[in-house]
Formats: sequence, structure tokens, C-alpha cells
Amino acid sequence: MKTLKIAIQKSGRLNEKSVELLKNCGLSFENYKSSLISPVSNFPLEILFLRDDDIPEYVQDGIADLGIVGENVIEETEVSVAYLQRLGFGKCSLKIAVTNNSDITDLSGLNGKSIATTYPAILSKFLKKENIQAEIRTISGSVEISPGLGLSDAICDLVSTGGTLKSNGLKPFADVMSSEAVLIGSKGSENDELIQELIQRIQSVLRAKETKYVVLNVEKANLQGVLDLLPGVKSPSVLPLAEEGWVAVHTVIPERDFWSRISQLKQAGAQGIVVMPIEKIIL
Ligand code: ATP
Ligand code: MG
Repeated sequence: MKTLKIAIQKSGRLNEKSVELLKNCGLSFENYKSSLISPVSNFPLEILFLRDDDIPEYVQDGIADLGIVGENVIEETEVSVAYLQRLGFGKCSLKIAVTNNSDITDLSGLNGKSIATTYPAILSKFLKKENIQAEIRTISGSVEISPGLGLSDAICDLVSTGGTLKSNGLKPFADVMSSEAVLIGSKGSENDELIQELIQRIQSVLRAKETKYVVLNVEKANLQGVLDLLPGVKSPSVLPLAEEGWVAVHTVIPERDFWSRISQLKQAGAQGIVVMPIEKIIL
């Protein structure tokens, strides 16, 4: 039987979440920090731990069948791969930022200026699209200090909370792209049976993450009012309670819907509300 290879980041911002996702898919492997390859004992899969920059090319060239990497890295390396699944973590944006006291206030103000970045390919495409003539200074890291050092007028860098920009006296003013971690495969790999199985496991984990199992008690007289507030995956289960005239409602709902409805549910007569995590949802 053939063994698939999936490339994930060896260390850095995506490592922990990538490992967690694969473990939640029921895959059993050692997360050796020192080795490059870790075999999965209960699925025909090997995990390759790599620098994230190398992942798109390894997948394009078929050295790895699958990879987990930020969209920003795929865009920058300009490879040809299939996007198989968005993974919902590693969210960030590539932004252009200037110093707080800069006289650059809009995109056209970048004409004739220099921008330091580790993402020259994405930035160059963006500037072309916006019809801006600016000099791109490609550097390999610590981009945020370059305006302070007089190396550039602006920077183009990844931002998640904005804290790093702020602490370096910078303010963002243009979004170049937004990004999250994605599962990629070589072109056509989506038709492979084993890859399909893995994608389905990943989807069931992602689905479960967004939803909660909710149990609550309500008087029969108020049941319909509570049910109207709870759109479930299927219709909710309603079970009688030992106390006459009361029922328990069990349902599965998206977490974001739940928090916005909690006060309405209480008003409608819901009591003893218990919210539980779900491990997997297999449709
Ligand atoms: P490697 O050693 O693997 O090359 P790296 O230093 O290039 O690692 P990290 O800083 O670990 O990369 O970031 C990995 C990915 O995490 C980024 O490519 C991006 O998709 C995502 N990410 C999420 N938030 C941020 C952020 N605030 N800054 C940088 N990257 C972020
Ligand atoms: Mg990198």
C-alpha cells in the first residue's frame, strides 16, 4: 500500500496547530523536534517537518503529496498546487505600513518611495495592479525596524494583532492580502482516495470546532419559543425530565449563533444551559 507524505512547518507559528489538527484527525505519531520525518502508526502517512518556505515547492514537485502552509507563502513562491481545504488558523494579513509621523497617507503617496518586505513577489503584483511605482527592498527578516533605520519609507509585512507594528511606531494603511493556513496538494491529488479520506477527517474536525453541543431545560409550555431560537444540525432532541411538565432539549449549533442567542433563550424560559465541546461531526 502506498504511503502519503504531508509536509508541515517544523517550528514556528503554524507548527503547533498543524500537529494538533492531525492528532485530532485520529493520527498517531511522535512530534519529534529533531527529526525530519515522523511515521504515522495508524494511517499510511508520513509527516515531513520543514521550513514553511519550502513546503509549496515540495508539494508541487511531488516530494510531498500534501502540505499545510500559509496562503501568503504559496502566493509568494508562485507555485502551481491545488488548494484542498482552508484550515481556519494562522490568520493574518499582509499590510503596507508607514511610520506614525509619515507624510504618506494613501497608496499614491508610495510613488517614488521604497518599501521593505520579505514578500517581493506579492508586493510587486499589488503595486502593478494599483499602478504605483515604488522601489521594493527585499530583506530576509525584521522588516519592521527598517523605516526606523532609514532603510525604507514603508514596509509590507504580515500582521495579525498589529502589536509588532505599534511597538515599532508604525501604522498600517493598506491591505495587500489576507491569509490563513491551507491544506495543499499537487494538481489532481484531490481525486486520490487516501487524500479524500484525510480531507474528510479534517473537515469533520473543523466542523466540530465551530459547533457546540447544547443541553438545556425548559417548561413544556415554553418549548416552542426555545426551539424557534435553536436551528440545529437536524431537529433537536426533546426528552422528558423527571419533573412533571419539564423537558430537556439537546441540540448542536454553531457557537457564534449560540452566544448571540443566550439572553433570548433565557428570556424564552431556558434554564440549566450546558454547552459542551464536540470532537468530530461526520456527515
Ligand atoms: P520558517 O522557519 O518555517 O520559515 P517563518 O519564520 O517563515 O518560519 P512564521 O513566523 O513561523 O514563519 O509564520 C508562519 C506563517 O504563520 C506565516 O507564513 C503566516 O502564514 C502565518 N502567520 C500568522 N500570523 C502571523 C504574524 N503575525 N506574523 C507572521 N506570520 C503569521
Ligand atoms: Mg519561512
